[in-house]
Amino acid sequence: MLTKILIANRGEIACRVAATARRMGIRTVAVYSEADAGSKHVAVCDEAVLIGPAAAKESYLRGQKIIEVAKATGAQAIHPGYGFLSENAEFAEAVHAAGLVFIGPPGSSMRAMGSKSAAKQLMEGANVPLVPGYHGDNQEPAFLREQADRIGYPVLLKASAGGGGKGMRVVERSEDFEAALASCKREAISSFGDDKVLVEKYLIRPRHIEIQVFADTFGNCVYLHERDCSVQRRHQKVLEEAPAPNMPPDRRAAMGEAAVNAARAVGYVGAGTVEFIANQDGSFYFMEMNTRLQVEHPVTEMITGTDLVEWQLRVAAGQPLPKKQSELAIHGHSIEARIYAENPEKGFLPSIGTLRHMDTPAAVEFELGAFGLDPAAVRVDSGVREGDAISPFYDPMIAKLIVWGADRTQALARLSQALSEFQIVGLATNIAFLKRLVEGEAFSSADLDTGLIERHGETLFPAPSAAPLGALALAALALGTGETQRGASNPAEPWAQASGWRMNSAYRRVLGFADEFTGKEGGYQVGLTYTSHGWEIDANGERQPLALVRQIGAELTIRLGETSLHGSVRRDGDVFHVFTGGRHFTLAYNDPMAHAGEQEAAGGRLTAPMPGKVVAVLAVAGKEVKKGDALVIMEAMKMEHTISAPSDGLVEEVLYQVGDQVADGAPLLAFKTA
Ligand code: ADP
Ligand code: ADP
Ligand code: MG
Repeated sequence: MLTKILIANRGEIACRVAATARRMGIRTVAVYSEADAGSKHVAVCDEAVLIGPAAAKESYLRGQKIIEVAKATGAQAIHPGYGFLSENAEFAEAVHAAGLVFIGPPGSSMRAMGSKSAAKQLMEGANVPLVPGYHGDNQEPAFLREQADRIGYPVLLKASAGGGGKGMRVVERSEDFEAALASCKREAISSFGDDKVLVEKYLIRPRHIEIQVFADTFGNCVYLHERDCSVQRRHQKVLEEAPAPNMPPDRRAAMGEAAVNAARAVGYVGAGTVEFIANQDGSFYFMEMNTRLQVEHPVTEMITGTDLVEWQLRVAAGQPLPKKQSELAIHGHSIEARIYAENPEKGFLPSIGTLRHMDTPAAVEFELGAFGLDPAAVRVDSGVREGDAISPFYDPMIAKLIVWGADRTQALARLSQALSEFQIVGLATNIAFLKRLVEGEAFSSADLDTGLIERHGETLFPAPSAAPLGALALAALALGTGETQRGASNPAEPWAQASGWRMNSAYRRVLGFADEFTGKEGGYQVGLTYTSHGWEIDANGERQPLALVRQIGAELTIRLGETSLHGSVRRDGDVFHVFTGGRHFTLAYNDPMAHAGEQEAAGGRLTAPMPGKVVAVLAVAGKEVKKGDALVIMEAMKMEHTISAPSDGLVEEVLYQVGDQVADGAPLLAFKTA
């Protein structure tokens, strides 16, 4: 058996491989870039070696350097994870030549599957069904167009060397063929340095169904059933599940056998995935083979009760596959959702930033049920922790949320619950989008095809709606209690002087919040009136009695009218992130000065909202001003803040001059409301 391996990857997959190795008593060596010095994968491995700067080309893609590190640290094998060097035949061969084990297939298998055209030629010979098309060497535009005319439109052009959806072009009519071919070739040459293309029939409303295969060095090869990865954006997977809904057992066996034939045809060893594109009637065709562990492998682990990384390590150590085909049954249903740092509302643009707060659902990492027991219902595979950054250098995936259920209905319910418990503050995520997707009619009823997201744009991207009274109440109470606590240690804090929170007098305070997400016109004016029982809240034209029932840290339970409501509120600067009812509201508390103004409205002092420097004094003692007139401008944190008149009134006295440094909460001027 192996005793020490090097993990040539980062993030989630590096942590996941390390977890299995640890369970098996195998030591792990991490490699990391300068950007990842403090990252989770470095912390969970036994040793870690810096291999270069942040850019992948200068770190995680430096095959020779990684091999040197493996030798120097005494690792016997290298696990490439996915992405980076995982499908690089030269790297696999160099590892072997250095006397180390590459945890994956031989370089020759990768090469055979590396070109989509060559792979199809091979598959044709192995009796694996192919999408009608042309994948030969003749690249003459006129000839290719003839082929497209013969196949029948629409057709799909793909770069032979392609991946990640790059270069793919759908052609609807013969007249458009030439232009599409030219643009496909342009993208293919710039992305892959190879402009060879193939033409295939473009299927209408297809499903993406793939088969997990596994082979050992003794000639055994099995399939661990299918995964349905039809829910995609830009030809990239978003949700993956196993088994595929509505899959008849005979078709499952036929696809499984076709996948095993494909793997055998290239002398495959280790974990691999054969991707098929399937028509709604169930007919299926080979698309490509991914010669590595796949991002979505956990759903297969959940339904088969296997640890695929353990299988990889055993096969790499020269052991036979732990199970025979007849021992691989399907148990229950599993779904994975990829949690990305991205903005679905803005075309799924990646977002970068720091995970200021991350709360994951109650879950178990990499835990599989012992034989005969159910696996963990909820599993979170993540390569980041609270405080880590999602940088522009690598993939923007934050975590994978994987659930298991006795059937699809139970798995769906758990997924939706778990998504509600996933709380992230600091950057944009696709969590709310995933929740709508998972709860939507199309996915719930398993009406699956690769166009699902596009077709259901209206329900998946609803017009933003205003925050409900409950969310506003939670933000207001979190603000109030937070200020009371802070006020105790800082008597200069303007809110501390506002004894309204503790007084029983009927005093109405108005809190202004801007809605960062919906950009709601004018924001919210939340009125709180102190009563003998708590408060009365008014906003959005509604009015309800409000009481704080319980507060532990960020968790609040409130009573709003007759209902009890639970939520958590995370404060990031002036922004209140309210998580309640499975939704996330981003409410920015308006400039505190506006409120300092309100409380001073009866006559008093306007105070500094933060420590800073006075850069301009516009107010003149003894002069009348109008509501909103700028009085003092302060500078703090490289930003200017204008303190303006809360109402019409009179400036009685100005207490600071330009250039003065002012403490947080210090009175700036005396003001009298007209
Ligand atoms: P699949 O979902 O079929 O496994 P993907 O293409 O979605 O395939 O996932 C693998 C891809 O994810 C890689 O080709 C790479 O672009 C990206 N990727 C994988 N692992 C990492 C990683 N650790 N860091 C950055 N990018 C990665
Ligand atoms: P990549 O290397 O980018 O993963 P694939 O060949 O695996 O490329 O195709 C990616 C996706 O493109 C598929 O999951 C599917 O959504 C779509 N696709 C590929 N081939 C076809 C086809 N012939 N008809 C319709 N959609 C297709
Ligand atoms: Mg693919």
